[in-house]
Amino acid sequence: MDANTKKDIRSLSKDEIIEFFVNNGDKAFRGKQVYEWLWSKGIHNFDLMTNLSKDTRIFLDKHFVINHIKVDDMQRSIDGTIKNAIRLFDDKIVESVLIPTEKRTTACVSSQVGCALNCAFCATARIKNMRNLNADEIYDQVVAAHQQSNLFYGHPLSNIVFMGMGEPLMNYNEVKKAIGMITSDEGLQMSPRRIVLSTSGLPKKIKQMADEGVKFGLAVSLHSAIDEKRSKMMPINIKNSLTDLAESLEYWYSKTKSRVTYEYVVWKDFNDKQEDIDALIKYAKIIPCKINIIEYNEIEEDGFQQAEPKVIDSYQKQLEDAGIVVNVRRSRGKDIDAACGQLANKKQ
Ligand code: SAH
Repeated sequence: MDANTKKDIRSLSKDEIIEFFVNNGDKAFRGKQVYEWLWSKGIHNFDLMTNLSKDTRIFLDKHFVINHIKVDDMQRSIDGTIKNAIRLFDDKIVESVLIPTEKRTTACVSSQVGCALNCAFCATARIKNMRNLNADEIYDQVVAAHQQSNLFYGHPLSNIVFMGMGEPLMNYNEVKKAIGMITSDEGLQMSPRRIVLSTSGLPKKIKQMADEGVKFGLAVSLHSAIDEKRSKMMPINIKNSLTDLAESLEYWYSKTKSRVTYEYVVWKDFNDKQEDIDALIKYAKIIPCKINIIEYNEIEEDGFQQAEPKVIDSYQKQLEDAGIVVNVRRSRGKDIDAACGQLANKKQ
């Protein structure tokens, strides 16, 4: 086998690695040892697995490669935000962001190279060359962020959001595996309550997550509660209407009892009218929720503009008066193109 046909051992589950050893006449615990080297210890070279015999190490090397990411470039914003350009084994690049606040450090990770959704306002939509990330590539971004958090901010990573490049629910299996590793004892032992998956809203997948009883949080990029408008900004809405989305969210809430977060940008001449606020209030009453009004980060030549501050104030006041929890969020890391929707591998 040459390097191109060898399988990535990190794509195997613990049971599969154990099975490989047993099928090759070795003991099950050898598989466990290798799994520990790969995940708990984060070793990327068979030669460093010192409790294996030389022969076993050579045997593994003959059958497998150990793919892993490499932080190619790291930029730091004046506000402390860090953006990483991450090189994958096939030389494709994704970006991840680390955002420090007083109380926590949040890693914003990518789930796909590029994105197929084509949201009108998002820079990632402009990257072609799409592929899904593997679970280990997602997990590695979190490990890198965790190390950077310790190194640069002096405390461990506290939160993870799937709000980087890509649509996590279009790569759900790998995202799920990665979350499994992030939360497991052999991985980073982080609580799923500190993880939020952000989606453009795929009703079938939302129901699947509800059925699986996932413990992480759910955020939905809403941006408009009026079908016609939402479809213009987010083509995914054409086949997945707000009614279907609402139905899946009701199902989500009935199963998980976990409120959803809606992400919402207010644009000038798009959703800055009273009818938009009224529609949002109505939609927000379907299940318990929290609304994050996020700042719009301009993308070159897209022609969109953030609404006037007084419109955003009016949104906030009316939502609060209606008893809905709302936060107005300022962007971080704008000077290095690290803010929401700005991840586009500009430097490459
Ligand atoms: N595909 C997922 C996650 C990636 S986008 C999703 O749609 O939720 C992460 C968040 O950034 C989403 O809420 C998205 O709508 C928002 N976003 C994208 N481009 C933006 C921009 N230019 N300014 C502000 N937010 C943006």
